[in-house]
Amino acid sequence: MLETKNGMYLPTDDFASKSHADQATYQAMYDSSVEDPEGFWGEHGRRIDWIKPYTKVKNTSFAPGNIDIRWYEDGTLNVAANCIDRHLETRGDQTAIIWEPDSPEDDALHITYKELHANVCKFANVLKDMGVKKGDRVVLYMPMIPEAAYAMLASARIGAIHSIVFAGFSADALGARVAGSNAKVVITSDGAPRGGRVTNLKDNVNQALNNVADDVKCLVVRRTGQQVAWRHDLDVWLHEAAQNVSDDCPPEEMNAEDPLFILYTSGSTGQPKGVVHTTGGYIVYASMTHQYTFDYHDGDVFWCTADVGWVTGHSYIVYGPLANGATTLMFEGVPTYPDAGRFWAVCEKHKVNQFYTAPTAIRALMGKGPEFVEKYDLSDLKVLGTVGEPINPEAWNWYHNVVGKGNVPIVDTWWQTETGGHLMTPLPGATPTKPGSCTLPFFGVQPVILEPTTGEEIHTTAAEGVLCIKDSWPAQMRTVWEDHERFEKTYFADYKNYYFTGDGARRDEDGYYWITGRVDDVINVSGHRMGTAEVESSLVAHPKVAESAVVGYPHAIKGQGIYAYVTLMNGVEPSEELRKELETWVRKDIGPIAKPDLIQWAPGLPKTRSGKIMRRILRKIAEDDFGALGDTSTLAEPEVVEDLIANRMNRH
Ligand code: ATP
Ligand code: MG
Repeated sequence: MLETKNGMYLPTDDFASKSHADQATYQAMYDSSVEDPEGFWGEHGRRIDWIKPYTKVKNTSFAPGNIDIRWYEDGTLNVAANCIDRHLETRGDQTAIIWEPDSPEDDALHITYKELHANVCKFANVLKDMGVKKGDRVVLYMPMIPEAAYAMLASARIGAIHSIVFAGFSADALGARVAGSNAKVVITSDGAPRGGRVTNLKDNVNQALNNVADDVKCLVVRRTGQQVAWRHDLDVWLHEAAQNVSDDCPPEEMNAEDPLFILYTSGSTGQPKGVVHTTGGYIVYASMTHQYTFDYHDGDVFWCTADVGWVTGHSYIVYGPLANGATTLMFEGVPTYPDAGRFWAVCEKHKVNQFYTAPTAIRALMGKGPEFVEKYDLSDLKVLGTVGEPINPEAWNWYHNVVGKGNVPIVDTWWQTETGGHLMTPLPGATPTKPGSCTLPFFGVQPVILEPTTGEEIHTTAAEGVLCIKDSWPAQMRTVWEDHERFEKTYFADYKNYYFTGDGARRDEDGYYWITGRVDDVINVSGHRMGTAEVESSLVAHPKVAESAVVGYPHAIKGQGIYAYVTLMNGVEPSEELRKELETWVRKDIGPIAKPDLIQWAPGLPKTRSGKIMRRILRKIAEDDFGALGDTSTLAEPEVVEDLIANRMNRH
């Protein structure tokens, strides 16, 4: 059992002594990283193999009108060579990727670094044969199969820029992203099995390309063997083309600042942004955070359950782990198929040491009961991670007690597509944790809390306001694809000389950070500012409530009123009585000021495909202004919105 002190869970001495960083090491490294960033990142940049070593480390400006971010700018390297070739001599026969298929009946694959090398080289040569050159864009629309990783690494190997579109997105969303990056090739598969159902990916690609461009080629991986509509002049089967190419492909020499990939944000707050990441700084930071945050050691099996369509999959399924010579697990399926025990079955089967998932998955599995976890032997787990949303203490405690049996450290990692890697997170051997807090900054990261209206930095330890970052870190995004102005406007215009995260945060007396939600989600009720997350946490703690989302709406007397969408537990009927009960519950829990003014029963909540609640849509409905809902292309279930509009509470 982890010991607790003042409500904090402490790392054990044993864990700390074997870890890459205990508390003293973390503090010393952090101090040096902010006192002397050049020296610190100059040294740690050498964890990567460079073709031509850099002589310049950091050249970054957040100055208004001159937002310019460069790291290691005169160095050259290749990311695929760092993720594969440099491991061949020492660990060629070690498993690089464990692949667990959708159905537990099918065999898992163990792909060694040698095999990875041959597969990626062939893939790269096929792309070259299709006319892809350095700097060209390649869009991936792939299931979670090893070929998705091969495709990423093959692009990196030949200097092409990949842009992955989550395979759950519609043909329209795909088409917009293909057109947006002017891609030469789309890589897909015939079908994608997920949770026992098959999506016809190739059909979606055909539809998408029909609408946007008729000269884009398509490279197709055979996954299911199903019938597909074939475009004879433009489509290529990978298994056929791979027979005619060599399994050697020399890596292209890339500048540190050449783009590695484009990736669109989730679209929780607005139209998705085409985030551009470059080569050198990104891979240094992805590999370093992977090693330290998860305390990854040689021989460990690491599993990140994200999809490669999200940045988490980029940095912590593929690039970070492989740069570190790790064994990384890739899972094709979903947490609830064939039943809610699948995650834990896979952990037991492959003896997973570090497990990394999202609060939305934890909450869903929590609702199914502990028996699905208890069936399995999880004794190999050393670190548990979470990412994507604030994790409410209820879910944190369940993760800790039921999955970790009370003795596995949890790392709550706060970061963004834009940041490339973790910005705030505990290190498991160093940082005492508090449920719900992402704790302290990673090396080189200087978070600040600004007063929202004046933009002044708040210097007291305890503070609450807008979360910004004071100086650059190596994996920071460099620009919005072909729209540097949007980059400046989104991240640097509201608060001058800082990177604006869009999130609100509180810093407590111990200097620990708590993400309070998006800045837009802070509401002002009769002069009291509060994060909507707080009211949501309170509602969800009620035994009859399964999920809730809270937004503000204009209120004649209070300025803003509190509008709560509430999803009840299975089998619970809504009633006026229950409405009163919930109002009283929140009033007792937080105070009269937090009592919801309106409660709408919601059979479901609008979420992005990555499982995040789209509060901007809920805000519009609460304002009775649902004519212009903005970009809804990343919504998982559009029908949910119709129901909410039909039953809205605030009608003018
Ligand atoms: P968009 O930028 O298009 O609105 P998005 O912000 O949801 O979409 P992502 O980059 O996938 O796109 O998500 C990053 C955001 O997720 C963070 O800004 C933060 O709000 C939230 N987040 C991620 N990890 C955590 C965490 N550990 N704790 C709290 N919030 C988190
Ligand atoms: Mg965002």
